[in-house]
Amino acid sequence: MSIAENIEKVKANLPEKVRLVAVSKTKPAELLMEAYDCGQRTFGENKVQEMVWKYDELPKDIEWHFIGHLQTNKIKHIAPFVHLIHGVDSFKLIKSIDAEAKKVGRIIPCLLQFHIAEEESKFGLSMQEAIEMLNSNEYKVLGNVKISGVMGMATYTDDENQIRKEFTNLKKHFEKLKLEFFTANFDFKEISMGMSGDYLIAIAEGSTMVRIGSTIFGERNYSLKP
Ligand SMILES: *Cc1c(COP(=O)(O)O)cnc(C)c1O
Repeated sequence: MSIAENIEKVKANLPEKVRLVAVSKTKPAELLMEAYDCGQRTFGENKVQEMVWKYDELPKDIEWHFIGHLQTNKIKHIAPFVHLIHGVDSFKLIKSIDAEAKKVGRIIPCLLQFHIAEEESKFGLSMQEAIEMLNSNEYKVLGNVKISGVMGMATYTDDENQIRKEFTNLKKHFEKLKLEFFTANFDFKEISMGMSGDYLIAIAEGSTMVRIGSTIFGERNYSLKP
């Protein structure tokens, strides 16, 4: 099937309010353009260098979402153009994003990544860490980041109940933070959850943004350098 057909199929499964982030990591610019030509404008990348060269090469009305683990020393490369950073998992990182955003005169939207999976390998904050951060004076003075919601990845498993439980948990995290810190803040509204293998469950559990790669672009081959 073509990329256009794949996107159409995915979109047919998405309620109107759920946004599709087409995860294009490892894929060449031509394939992103195929998606672009059928109207897709939101792309997700997880490597700074790769996102920068794709940004340089491709049309400027694309919204670039950074979905990987971001190193503080690399923020400056994406700060001028990144649309949303999904994986904010430490106070140190959000402080550094704020500093780089300030240098380029922007306010960068970010999502707090929570550790919801069983796997230790996955990144993310605990609820307690998030609450400590949001309560700290150091956080309150940051003027160049905007927390727009939460993000999480479920355990890689066939057990749908497990996945569902983890997504429900992320939704609960969102609601707790909304109530305690963001009641009057309409920017805090995103729940980024769901990938190719589990996005239907994520939607059922309240996702507002799904990050879908292989279902759109095919399997990734990490031995090919872009
Ligand atoms: C790669 C990746 C995705 C997309 O994964 P697929 O299974 O190919 O849809 C989504 N989110 C994150 C954080 C990723 O790194």
